[in-house]
Amino acid sequence: MLINHLQLRQLFKNFWEKKKHQNIPPISLIPQNDPTTLFTGSGMQQLVPYLLGEAHPLGKRLYNIQPCLRSQDIDEVGDNRHTTFFEMMGNWSLGEYFKKEQLAWFWKFLTKELGFKPQKLYVTVFAGDKRNNLPPDNESTEIWKSLGVKENHIFKYGPEKNWWSRAGIPDNMPTNEPGGPDSEVFYEFTNVLHNKKFGEKCHPNCDCGRFMEIGNSVFMQYKKTANGAFVELPNKNVDFGGGLERILAALNDNPDVFTTDIYLPIIKALEKVSLKKYQEEKDKQKMRVIADHLKAAVFLIKTGVFPANKERGYFLRRLLRRISVKMLKLKGNTVKASDLLPAVEAIIEIYNNIYFEQNDFEKIKLVIEEEINRFNKTLQQGLKILEKITKPTGKQIFDLYQSFGFPKELSEEILKEKGLKFDKKEFDNEFEKHRRLSRTASAGMFKGGLADHSSQTIKYHTANHLLHQALFDVLGNSIRQEGSHITGERLRFDFYSPIKPTLDLIKKAEAIVNEKIKLNLPVHFKILPKDEAYKIGAKSFFREKYPDMVKVYFIGNYSKEFCGGPHVTSTKEIGKIDIFKFEKIGANLYRIYAK
Ligand SMILES: [Zn+2]
Ligand SMILES: [Zn+2]
Repeated sequence: MLINHLQLRQLFKNFWEKKKHQNIPPISLIPQNDPTTLFTGSGMQQLVPYLLGEAHPLGKRLYNIQPCLRSQDIDEVGDNRHTTFFEMMGNWSLGEYFKKEQLAWFWKFLTKELGFKPQKLYVTVFAGDKRNNLPPDNESTEIWKSLGVKENHIFKYGPEKNWWSRAGIPDNMPTNEPGGPDSEVFYEFTNVLHNKKFGEKCHPNCDCGRFMEIGNSVFMQYKKTANGAFVELPNKNVDFGGGLERILAALNDNPDVFTTDIYLPIIKALEKVSLKKYQEEKDKQKMRVIADHLKAAVFLIKTGVFPANKERGYFLRRLLRRISVKMLKLKGNTVKASDLLPAVEAIIEIYNNIYFEQNDFEKIKLVIEEEINRFNKTLQQGLKILEKITKPTGKQIFDLYQSFGFPKELSEEILKEKGLKFDKKEFDNEFEKHRRLSRTASAGMFKGGLADHSSQTIKYHTANHLLHQALFDVLGNSIRQEGSHITGERLRFDFYSPIKPTLDLIKKAEAIVNEKIKLNLPVHFKILPKDEAYKIGAKSFFREKYPDMVKVYFIGNYSKEFCGGPHVTSTKEIGKIDIFKFEKIGANLYRIYAK
């Protein structure tokens, strides 16, 4: 391969720094203040307040590479391109440059820095939306042509494909919501033949696998007004995102991301342990699932997630269970936790000095060993339950799958030995039902996190700052914020405290918050060097790595906190806060609900 992932990172960095862009550190996989999303799912997630008009501490030209995790795609992993974990490369213009610079620069990066041949690249532009009186994005088309892109490599699509807003297509956008056309670049794998199952003719958005999207430039150009008409925004933004793994696959001229140097050492470790070959079709899918899930699990453990029965911990548990089951099928006999350790080492080695240090291995190893050993016991229990079943139904087998991660095929084989069968259709129906439910739940989460900057969540978020300080006041300096979760209905605040907080103390904190609200303290921010922000005692989130310049929000003289915003302008807007639930959620871990 010509360019490996380390070189790709370096080329990307050099390119944007030459163009006077500041690097923003990636945020944690567990978003800090983003209320309702489980995991960081895109590079722009931390940019949302700034794309909506808040000033960014590092200026108007930004870039980064962000580790991301999408839990909703877990059942699709196993083909050549779907993964739960991936890295997104991004660059942003906050009201500075626009289409002309963005498209020319990205094109230059692809063709000059990475050496892509223009004849292998295709672009798409917005075809317009008559219903909403939105014109086609001819400006982008002309720019692409001026860059030498041939007319038959430019494809135009409607709002379903080439329009971006947090709410989706223009029709779904609420009043005042910004949005705009986007322009994607695709790579063509000429050795993949089009499958007519997906339509008569192949084109960039065809699902046959011949084309792969490697980058998308979003142009935040319009705002929807109260009467439904779209007007141009005074400050137009660029939001670019491109998948690092996909760009590597395109550089490799092989659509299988698992053959790039960011997966290959993991696959090799699995081949060695299982004595199976990745090239064997029947083993390929299993190795892909294990490689992807293990990578995601290792990143989650590094971030501080532990296997549990709820939320993020449950997702990690599911990943490790699925790994066990796939490994069992791959090896054909027993699974030991130690089977996975060479692959874990490979993952840490790939990202060494980027996201990991060598001594992370021991910590991660312990968590994986404990969980896999525990699961092996559960698996044995599942086998026992299966032994007892005499008239198996699809629902029963699905329940086994649900509660033990027991795969359908495995149940099938065991039962077969006893001459038993179950209704596979019933199983599939249950499976679909469950999948739809979890999809809706995670889609809601994703949307909630990004779309909900309603006035109520902004109020709760500001109250969160007050509560944070009030807890310090009553419990002392050893407390630490563990996370927050805000919806339009309530706020939730998790914290660590070595001192047991009595209900009286919690009520005292509530009284302080309400007193500060009544004082109608003004809320404002300053952009400060990080060291200075720490010096004045601004509270930060321990999981986060902050850039050299940070934004600190002040509420009167009372609270100082690293935060991106947005907030209310003065505290009276919040109204009265009522702590309606207080509970212990773990060792020295507590949770407060307030509304
Ligand atoms: Zn096709
Ligand atoms: Zn804040």
